[in-house]
Amino acid sequence: MRICNLSSGSDGNLTYIESENARVLIDIGLSCRETERRLSLLKTTPDQIDAIFITHEHLDHMKGLEVFASKYKSKVFVHKNGYVPLVNKINRTVDIEVFDDNTFDYKDLTIFPISVPHDVKQCTGYSIISKQKKISIITDLGHTTSEILQNLRFSNLVFLEANHDVDMLVANPDYPEFLKQRILSLKGHLSNDSCAESIADLANYGTKNFVLSHLSTKNNTPQLAFEYISRKLREKNIKEGEDIKIKVASVVPQTIFRL
Ligand SMILES: [Zn+2]
Ligand SMILES: [Zn+2]
Repeated sequence: MRICNLSSGSDGNLTYIESENARVLIDIGLSCRETERRLSLLKTTPDQIDAIFITHEHLDHMKGLEVFASKYKSKVFVHKNGYVPLVNKINRTVDIEVFDDNTFDYKDLTIFPISVPHDVKQCTGYSIISKQKKISIITDLGHTTSEILQNLRFSNLVFLEANHDVDMLVANPDYPEFLKQRILSLKGHLSNDSCAESIADLANYGTKNFVLSHLSTKNNTPQLAFEYISRKLREKNIKEGEDIKIKVASVVPQTIFRL
């Protein structure tokens, strides 16, 4: 598989996954034009995209959806509980297929939907397996549960939210109190702290590659997230650079992974 995060964070989320027989996107939170441009960096044309898997209806995950999917006739997948909130935000005719909590196959991909706690009716993370390789993408969740972690275990690569540093968020004078409470709540966003705890669990089950994702530009920095989480893991005897590798996703395209 070839995997590349093309944008991450509240300005737009877009991840590209390519297997032998399928080219898909997880979310399309950039405009159609910007998505086209970023796909060209991977030498992929928009009409080669077979399907788009949507996590939830927040704009940073579906901004380019209706223009892109109607223009290129791409198939759109969304959890049945997220269907109505999603279609309420689009006007054009788009080919949408719903799924439930069960695993399903799409071309040579096996898709494991993972429901996560976020302030919407349904937010779905994904584990995707092709040819024995498993990648997982989990962002926009207030907290992890043992069930979520169990689903993520044995992934070869995990994109996991490291949204904010709690101290930085609490001290941010530009954020109103209700917004801080929303982000910090069990249905908000994952902190660096919770991210580190989750990585420690997954590392103990063999995952070696992590990408810190959906970082806040106001309440976190790539350097802070990387250093804080690496330090927390060192305290648990997991060494970044030796036992595991951590990269940080941002608003610009990053590493291309090949599994
Ligand atoms: Zn988001
Ligand atoms: Zn969201």
